[in-house]
Amino acid sequence: AEWTERDGWSPPRLKPFGDLSMSPAMVGLHYGQVVFEGLKAYRRGTDAVACFRPADHAARLSRSAHRLAIPALPEDSLLTAVDLLLQADGGCLPDRPGLSLYLRPVLYANEANLALRPARRYAFLLIAFVTGGFFSDRPDPVSVWVGRDYTRAAPGGTGSVKFAGNYSPSYAAQEQARAAGCDQVVWLDPVERQWVEELGGMNLFFVRGSGRSAQLITPPATGTLLPGITRDSLLHLAAGHGLAVREEPLSIGQWKAECLDGTINETFASGTAAVVTPVGTVRDGAESWQVGTGLAGPVTLALRDALVGIHTGRAPAPEGWLRTVGLR
Ligand code: PMP
Repeated sequence: AEWTERDGWSPPRLKPFGDLSMSPAMVGLHYGQVVFEGLKAYRRGTDAVACFRPADHAARLSRSAHRLAIPALPEDSLLTAVDLLLQADGGCLPDRPGLSLYLRPVLYANEANLALRPARRYAFLLIAFVTGGFFSDRPDPVSVWVGRDYTRAAPGGTGSVKFAGNYSPSYAAQEQARAAGCDQVVWLDPVERQWVEELGGMNLFFVRGSGRSAQLITPPATGTLLPGITRDSLLHLAAGHGLAVREEPLSIGQWKAECLDGTINETFASGTAAVVTPVGTVRDGAESWQVGTGLAGPVTLALRDALVGIHTGRAPAPEGWLRTVGLR
């Protein structure tokens, strides 16, 4: 779909996958006026696929667009685009457990102009590819490295939306984490540099206590972390499992102390791509510590199973979470 000042957004239509042509003076390329989403669809037998919470992803895309002064795409347009693409190509998703279709909507400034003002022409596109690998019964834990040299988000910045430019500035920290032998960067708050916020593309959860007194904690979304749709889904499912759920700040010092004394015995990350992934070890400079046994704990596995059950159609989904599309 395209947006012009005269006509607004055109309805989305299906086109064969191929290269885009672009002016060398395209605003999106020079100034990064680009926002996106990431969502998934899962096979439903031979003749349908089900897309997970597309209306919520459309609402977040609108928030992101608003922050980047991009004219709001009608939320129905994303749903229409999802329907068109899945009807036509959903059949390329093999009917095998563990596989899903990752859908990537992008909204970008498409005007040739080097002026420093919002573009006067935009485009919307949606692409999809088959992905998988997150459905083993025992998900592999990741190791995380506390980023101290850079910040991911700034107060008043773009950290709470899916702005394209949030991601490339984190690559340098990601390289540092890899050099330290870790899989992911833990981002701290940008002001006091002590509150644990999230990973590069996943939210974080901590399990304090166990059994009936277990509490699930996730950092509050106060502007510098991205409020994930998976995070929201897990908060909902955890409450249904009788877990006490709290959005509460946790400092890096507390995380370490409570892992060492066994108060926090599980930590996991959540996201559309990662689903629910256990965090096994944390490295902060010269120090490192293990979370619980270093493997996926019972709360992590139970919540993951509850979410995967909804994805795969094994468990009923709350009202409005799934959009089922028939294949052509
Ligand atoms: N934080 C960041 C920075 C992300 O990019 C993502 C992925 N969209 C998430 C958290 C998790 O969000 P969601 O559950 O909506 O995929």
